[in-house]
Amino acid sequence: MSSERPLVVLLVEDDSAIRELSTMILEDAGHEVHAVRDGDAADAWLQQNEADLLFTDIRMPGRITGEELARRHAHMRVLVTSGEVKEQHPWLDERMVYLPKPYDRKALLAAVRQLAA
Ligand SMILES: [Mg+2]
Repeated sequence: MSSERPLVVLLVEDDSAIRELSTMILEDAGHEVHAVRDGDAADAWLQQNEADLLFTDIRMPGRITGEELARRHAHMRVLVTSGEVKEQHPWLDERMVYLPKPYDRKALLAAVRQLAA
């Protein structure tokens, strides 16, 4: 377990293997994770609940893409992931942290720590 401040994380990822592994890594580090499979579910969840951190994939099925989701909730701490290079996403603002796929435990926790600081 880590001594970091536990965060409530909304994790949005359509790839179930990545979603489950990332949930495990974050829970292992003491964070509380609510995981959903697309932007529509995430946006609906955020209408009723609060999270400290939005962690979202970009390419997902559904009406609301990761980009749209991140932009709608840009007031939150936002961690964005994708298999593409960061330069393909000029809409990312400087407060958002970009985590390229594939990422490992160390890279994920470092990104979360950067946003929590
Ligand atoms: Mg995806």
